[in-house]
Amino acid sequence: MGNDSNNGAPAAPSNFLRGIIDADNASSKYAGKTDAHGKPLPTVITRFPPEPNGYLHIGHAKSICLNFGLARDYGGRCHLRFDDTNPTKEEQEYVDTIIDSVQWLGFHWEHGGDDHQYFASDYFDKLYEMAEWLINAGYAYVDSQSAEEMAANRGNFSEPGKNSRFRDRPAAESLDLLRRMKVGEFKDGEHVLRAKIDMASPNMNMRDPAIYRIRHAHHHRTGDKWCIYPMYDYAHPISDAIENITHSICTLEFQDHRPFYDWILERLAEGGFFKKPLPHQYEFARLNLTYAITSKRKLLQLVEEKIVNGWDDPRMPTIVGIRRRGYTPESLQLFAERIGVAKADSWIDMSILEGALRDDLDEKAARIVGVLNPLKLIVDNYPDGQSEDCSAPVHPHHPERGNRSFPFSRELWIEAEDFMEVPEKGYFRLFPGNKVRLRYGFVVECTGCDKDASGKVIAVHCNYYPDSKSGTEGSSNYKVKGNIHWVSAAHGVRAEVRLYDRLFKDPHPDAGGKDFKLALNPDSKSVITAYLEPGADKAMPDDRFQFERHGYFVADRVDSTPGHPVFNRIVTLKDSWK
Ligand code: ATP
Ligand code: MG
Repeated sequence: MGNDSNNGAPAAPSNFLRGIIDADNASSKYAGKTDAHGKPLPTVITRFPPEPNGYLHIGHAKSICLNFGLARDYGGRCHLRFDDTNPTKEEQEYVDTIIDSVQWLGFHWEHGGDDHQYFASDYFDKLYEMAEWLINAGYAYVDSQSAEEMAANRGNFSEPGKNSRFRDRPAAESLDLLRRMKVGEFKDGEHVLRAKIDMASPNMNMRDPAIYRIRHAHHHRTGDKWCIYPMYDYAHPISDAIENITHSICTLEFQDHRPFYDWILERLAEGGFFKKPLPHQYEFARLNLTYAITSKRKLLQLVEEKIVNGWDDPRMPTIVGIRRRGYTPESLQLFAERIGVAKADSWIDMSILEGALRDDLDEKAARIVGVLNPLKLIVDNYPDGQSEDCSAPVHPHHPERGNRSFPFSRELWIEAEDFMEVPEKGYFRLFPGNKVRLRYGFVVECTGCDKDASGKVIAVHCNYYPDSKSGTEGSSNYKVKGNIHWVSAAHGVRAEVRLYDRLFKDPHPDAGGKDFKLALNPDSKSVITAYLEPGADKAMPDDRFQFERHGYFVADRVDSTPGHPVFNRIVTLKDSWK
């Protein structure tokens, strides 16, 4: 983000959140605030608050692009905050992969020389201090009902809840109990600290929600210091306020939690813990992508049951998977911009994601030739042992990127589909008696083919016209309808190519509680041996190319090495999915 601000004039298309920020800026709502050290604060401070309990997925990418993108566009900052208040599910491995994924997407959390990476667990002391204040102020009490009683007394959507018999115990008693909870005198579930709000509220989240519970568990950062842990709904607004977040953006399912978000911050502002204006929560529709699942639990199942090869399997919708597949960070940012932010849930079609990917790669990817289903073509009138260079642009729309050259020789690889012994109607490629242009090379006339004992075509024969070379004067005298790609057999690079396709056949693999395993696409991965243009063996991991006529491919970041290339198909040239 840095200082590349363009206050008030964001380049990206508008959306309701930008409208809110524009209005807040116009009314100077957050202007003039300073941090605890007296340093002036930007008027837009957002945060991305992942729980370090799994790998990030495409839905998180939307949230990252949104939060960091708004901060960037308004000259503010976005905090990376690990919401690590749940001790048993969180691990360092996840913290590391989350940092890596956000950075890869192109974002960072430094601003004005300060690092804005935080952990909610760093606030445990403050959260506790505030809890004691809430008790003393009459806003919280320790409840000692059993879990069953508590559930029964909570009521439901049509029935109000009932006050706990402990609700009016003296503050001093609640305080004493909380302190004893803290030092470990009780077992998990024996007591719980609750906010004192309204057991008859139509909003279930306002019926005296729990704010602290006993959990004798080791925490990945605070170790065994604590055996009581704050609930998410308590820790989240307070973390936002401590960090001076202005616009706290979350997904729609938190809409019903907003009244408590506001309630707790108002109370703590009363207590002098925070100054107004307080952070405000806004909700947007989560990303639901067709042909994908984004539930952490179900993604874990795919990994554990070895349906995919790990979290970074190129078919996974995880950021590590998408990255390995060959997506660019820019294509994901473009996707996030195109889908915008809505206030109602909907499905986004996978073709929109793939469209953004193609648009980005079309500009960037160097072109090379790759023969994926090789069949030998023998140019009978070309001298054995001889070769000559043909040349082609690195990128058809960017002549400044120069040319590449590759040899033509007597034996070539072509695609098996580019020959038919008996052509069907409208087939313009190779068949006996027909002429085609070998792209960037010569015009050849097919003379026949060789077959094995089973009748399978094993080689095709042709003669070439020496004065027909592309780019020479004579070439324009030849008018042919077919134009096929090829690689010299003696010079081509043999490579493993992994053809990936969508992991699911069903656009809504897990909708309505369906078993998503029944929707798996059996053809989501196939591994072939291909022949690539000379030079492809020098590809470095993550190098991306367009294999002409086929699609976009990337040198696999895990298995590809210079000299031993392994390519993943990122996406085909056109959307051929039905
Ligand atoms: P969990 O069930 O473990 O809480 P989660 O998907 O909510 O899973 P978090 O780590 O809590 O994961 O999410 C971090 C942030 O990413 C949250 O602000 C959340 O709203 C946002 N987010 C998660 N899934 C999506 C999605 N599909 N679309 C948009 N934003 C999402
Ligand atoms: Mg969550």
